[in-house]
Amino acid sequence: MNNCIFCKIVDGEIPSSKIYEDGEVLAFLDIHPVNPGHVLVIPKAHYENFISSPDEISGKLLAVAKKIGLAVMVATQSSGFNLSTANGAAAGQEVMHLHFHIIPRKDRAEHQPWNQGVYAPSEAQKVAAAIKELLQ
Ligand code: 5GP
Ligand code: ZN
Repeated sequence: MNNCIFCKIVDGEIPSSKIYEDGEVLAFLDIHPVNPGHVLVIPKAHYENFISSPDEISGKLLAVAKKIGLAVMVATQSSGFNLSTANGAAAGQEVMHLHFHIIPRKDRAEHQPWNQGVYAPSEAQKVAAAIKELLQ
């Protein structure tokens, strides 16, 4: 896709530190790592985000991410990793080509937990019911 940084990386127009490639998937180091070994796993075809990708592609990315996550942990002597994707700008997505981040972690203390709150009375039931209804 025109003007997509990750499509340009797939096409070799922009250089990257590639670590894995198959027919559908490419993985390379994030240029601004949270920790050394921070990897991005992307489909070679352009899909904007997780929701807009076909199940075969998102499923394949997760299977590859599982393998790469283990390799990243061993290679960086880490004991855990975060696997995440931002679906949409409101979730922090900056590059609009589906990607999973694999971020190796050595120490629980350096991981910034999400800012979590509490539900107001009956709010949890309401939001759970609204989600459930759409899934039926
Ligand atoms: P997002 O915020 O969309 O979840 O993450 C996009 C990621 O892409 C960021 O972590 C950013 O550092 C990375 N990134 C942006 N441009 C490039 C690039 O040209 N090369 C590489 N390797 N990573 C990039
Ligand atoms: Zn793209």
